[in-house]
Amino acid sequence: MPDREGGSRRRLLILGGTPEAARLAQGAIERFKNRLEVISSLAGRTADPAPLPGTVRQGGFGGPGGLADYLSEEKIDCVIDATHPFAAQISAHGREACEAKGVLRLMLLRPAWRREGGDDWVEASSIEDAAEALKNSTAPGGRVFLTTGPGSLAPFAALDDRRFLVRLIEAPKTPLGLSDYETVIGRGPFTVADERALMAEKRIDVLVSKLSGGGATYPKIIAARQLSLPVIMIRRPPPEPGMRVETAEAALDWLDGALV
Ligand code: NAP
Repeated sequence: MPDREGGSRRRLLILGGTPEAARLAQGAIERFKNRLEVISSLAGRTADPAPLPGTVRQGGFGGPGGLADYLSEEKIDCVIDATHPFAAQISAHGREACEAKGVLRLMLLRPAWRREGGDDWVEASSIEDAAEALKNSTAPGGRVFLTTGPGSLAPFAALDDRRFLVRLIEAPKTPLGLSDYETVIGRGPFTVADERALMAEKRIDVLVSKLSGGGATYPKIIAARQLSLPVIMIRRPPPEPGMRVETAEAALDWLDGALV
């Protein structure tokens, strides 16, 4: 990537909160060195996020208009949306803001997991649909391993005949609103052995998961397969239109040519 006229550094905004976004920030700093300033944006959901190289900003922008203003004020040349496949709102805002300001945008979206032999998946179209599927589930027993994140619990509140094991990155500060639950605190990557041991120890009957993709949380899917447990698998929302790659490495190659 050549220098901008006058030699000033180009500025990349990464919409982050994923392992791919962290890999991209690291890779961009190593590859482009002082030719590129890398700014990672986090929503600020976790009090103690994993450290990131480069500049980090936290918190919402205040909608698409706020993000558009930020792009202008911070003289951002390029945005890479490397947010989670289920973070649909910020991705839509990223598209709208970049279109409004004529800023280059790429999406880094990891591939979804694919069903393999031995997988027993019931697909759901939304969190609400997953709760409905669980209600109608014929799986024996009522112990549910819920791994959909803290913002996705409300639809399960009505299921008062189930015991939930809820995995969270941080201990919750307020009750979760489920009638019968315990929490397990952990941040990926996880191992198959640990996931198997957890599911066996807690005598889990069914796993509820988003179709997130990526390696960090896939071990729970392998563990469920090995233990012959059903999985209620929530499909992804449709991605925003626009250019898309699947890996941080491909995003770096794109960046190399993008800011000429
Ligand atoms: P979301 O529903 O798409 O976004 C809700 C609002 O949060 C956005 O409108 C924006 O606020 C703010 N926001 C989200 N991501 C942001 C970012 N990277 N930087 C600055 N502001 C951001 O998002 P979400 O599903 O709550 O996810 C929040 C973050 O957690 C994302 O960064 C995502 O990558 C990460 N994450 C999400 C999941 C998941 O399952 N959804 C899983 C793992 C990690 P304003 O409108 O005020 O700008």
